[in-house]
Amino acid sequence: PVSENISRLTAHLQGWIGRTRPMLIDGQWVEAASGKTFQVRDPATGKIIANVAEGAAEDIDRAVRAARKAFESGPWSRMTPSERGKLLHRVGDLILENLHELAQLESIDNGKPASVARAADVPLAADMFHYMSGWCTKIEGKTIPISALAAPGNYFSYTRPEPIGVVGQIIPWNFPLLMAAWKLAPALATGCTVVLKVAEETPLSALRLGDILMEAGIPAGVVNIVPGFGETAGAALAAHPDVNKVAFTGSTEVGKLIVQAAARDLKRVSLELGGKSPNIILADADIDAAIAGSTAAIFFNHGQCCNAGSRLYVQEKVFDRVVEGIAAAAGKIKLGCGLDDDTEMGPLVSDVQFDRVSGFLRSGKEQGARALCGGEALEGAGYYVKPTVLVDTRPDMKVVQEEIFGPVLVAMPFKEADDRLIAEANNSIYGLAAGVWTRDVAAAHGIAHKLRAGSVWVNCYHVFDASLPFGGYKQSGWGREMGQAVLSNYLETKAVTTAIG
Ligand code: NAD
Repeated sequence: PVSENISRLTAHLQGWIGRTRPMLIDGQWVEAASGKTFQVRDPATGKIIANVAEGAAEDIDRAVRAARKAFESGPWSRMTPSERGKLLHRVGDLILENLHELAQLESIDNGKPASVARAADVPLAADMFHYMSGWCTKIEGKTIPISALAAPGNYFSYTRPEPIGVVGQIIPWNFPLLMAAWKLAPALATGCTVVLKVAEETPLSALRLGDILMEAGIPAGVVNIVPGFGETAGAALAAHPDVNKVAFTGSTEVGKLIVQAAARDLKRVSLELGGKSPNIILADADIDAAIAGSTAAIFFNHGQCCNAGSRLYVQEKVFDRVVEGIAAAAGKIKLGCGLDDDTEMGPLVSDVQFDRVSGFLRSGKEQGARALCGGEALEGAGYYVKPTVLVDTRPDMKVVQEEIFGPVLVAMPFKEADDRLIAEANNSIYGLAAGVWTRDVAAAHGIAHKLRAGSVWVNCYHVFDASLPFGGYKQSGWGREMGQAVLSNYLETKAVTTAIG
């Protein structure tokens, strides 16, 4: 059955989605070598919205060859940094020109409210291309005065940052367009060429971005987009001998498989993985702001954020007020189809995620946690789970230790903001993000410095910017996305030394 929500898309999108969507290889939209396709579903109804070419090893190989050709001999490698920068800027402009359609597509594919995609996903994706376009002309080496102890003489030495080559990128379903932008823009800014494997749950917006990249004038083969499944297309990309570097965002479990596959020929790897981020509220905080901010910290994007503030630590004195405040706010969140204007939270992305999150809710209940709100799925069609706040938890519970990746908050009281609290907050295999709410500046920074996390937000949460590095400590990943920091993921440094007599 076909989802009735298709009729709510623009006429142009209905036509676009109505044809089997091919993959982008060497500047051409092509079918899978196998001729196979797979179905994409609307999470609000569970029904089909599109058929997409199913890429596998042979398609990945074609795409890698196209990327290699574009890297070695195509116009890309001959373009000046300024020319590349202008193209990237144009991509950002075109994303904004297509804001409405991209937001609709993201909503019907992922389930998120179109209003959120219009305000966040799509403009942030454009901003990443705009921001990275500026770096093209600013990737500089150094001149280094050397002593050359064992070979005395006069030398002129400089470093030259060079693109790493052909990059394989694998992205998840939680922010399909934005993750494509986070990955593609810096790789293109450094002069690399790319094979992008999009998530099987949500391939559509990245394929639409492929149209935009072509329209902007990105040369053939520079970006190849292959939809397909992880175990086939993804694994083939991670293991392909002619890929120089793999950049992956997704689960920690699959991140480890990527490292193993890449190890065979020592490919460079960067990883942006899971999290179970602590969000700490001290009694002296602006409590209303902390309640509102902590509600958004967990429930934004239905909790399907690697950096979600999913472990809440609240100072005892204000514990009841805070958790009841968050539960009350959660109870008011309007669940519905992402295409409805008044929807604040849509369905989870897939039946698999729905079952996973439902399993965590059952496990929490069995182990003695109590739901202040939610705690169950919504009756009827679609993968809806009610926003949930769990209390009476213990540190060893599955719901406290494991990444749920759904709208489920676990809340724990603490007595003093001392080293025991820090140890508890750091008691996780993950280290992606954290939040601190307090009016005490010294306490805020003291805690921020002790938390083992790549991002710490003080009196705010989920504040992202193209210029700020983002990534994880511990099993949350390797390397950083965004900002100047991400460029090193895609560059090799060459040292050139010349004897000058
Ligand atoms: P996943 O890690 O399985 O999938 C992410 C991407 O990796 C997809 O494109 C997938 O096709 C690909 N992939 C899967 N297996 C692969 C393999 N063997 N080789 C190469 N690529 C492979 O994530 P998921 O199954 O979609 O979600 C499972 C859990 O992962 C979630 O519940 C959540 O905990 C976590 N997750 C984290 C993020 C994040 O941003 N950190 C994003 C999505 C999911």
